[in-house]
Amino acid sequence: MDHYGVFGNPIEHSLSPIIHSQFAKQTGLDIKYEKILAPLDDFAKTAQMFISQGAKGFNITVPFKIEAFNLATQCSLNAQTAGAVNTIKKNGNELMGENTDGIGLVNDLTKNLNISLNGKTVLILGAGGATRGILLPLLNQQPKRLMIANRTASKAIDLAKDFSIYGNTCGFGLDKVKNDPVDVIINATSASLDGQMPDIATGVANGAICYDLMYGTQTPFMDWAKANNAKMIVDGLGMLVEQAAAAFKFWTGKQPNTQEVIKNLRS
Ligand code: NDP
Repeated sequence: MDHYGVFGNPIEHSLSPIIHSQFAKQTGLDIKYEKILAPLDDFAKTAQMFISQGAKGFNITVPFKIEAFNLATQCSLNAQTAGAVNTIKKNGNELMGENTDGIGLVNDLTKNLNISLNGKTVLILGAGGATRGILLPLLNQQPKRLMIANRTASKAIDLAKDFSIYGNTCGFGLDKVKNDPVDVIINATSASLDGQMPDIATGVANGAICYDLMYGTQTPFMDWAKANNAKMIVDGLGMLVEQAAAAFKFWTGKQPNTQEVIKNLRS
């Protein structure tokens, strides 16, 4: 039996064991996947112990993704540009770091929801860790323009500059969002966690696809999108399952059926 897990603090809420056990069942693999609460000041040692006990890899969630990036001995371009790792695979003496968050979002948008980003205008709200993780995979879809708007404008401007070699990006403060509609709005702020929606120009949502990275509840962003004539409103559950599927494939080489798992989780 191959052993995997997810490290976080807190970790009780994690759906990853349920998702990976369904993937294992689908692909006929014998896998044990557990939740591991790492002490806030001792992630690296706890993770190394897990590997030394024979585990083949693990996922990493809040707040350890940057420490996991430092722990990995080799990193993919996705992980390097994100500066964060959410998946580690043991390969001989190497700990290979990957970041599957952005691939997860893109796969949910393009495969599950049938939305092409090619030639589209995309607005991301927020410039934190999640935004850094999704930027390269989004830009690889060749949107016409990718705008980053953040409460702290300087962070959005810096992030847009960092990624400008990969596509047409720009960054500004939330107060500079124009009333002109865009094709896709992605809420990557953590405002929903506090029951808030940033105060931005409402015309931008008219006819847009509005995607909240948060899942499990109707968020203030989703309410705002509905009130402002969005064409489609989606939460981040599909991204969660898709990022898990990309990790599962990174470890095992097998591609699970994500739509079945998303359907199970929604019901
Ligand atoms: P960070 O803490 O790194 O960044 C938070 C961002 O939200 C910052 O840009 C911050 O702005 C902004 N923000 C916070 N509160 C407000 C507010 N009241 N109004 C406006 N902006 C605000 O968080 P992450 O980037 O790691 O996570 C963001 C969200 O993405 C979370 O809800 C998380 O759950 C979700 N997520 C979902 C995933 C999935 O699989 N579905 C995967 C990863 C993340 P400022 O810079 O000004 O402080």
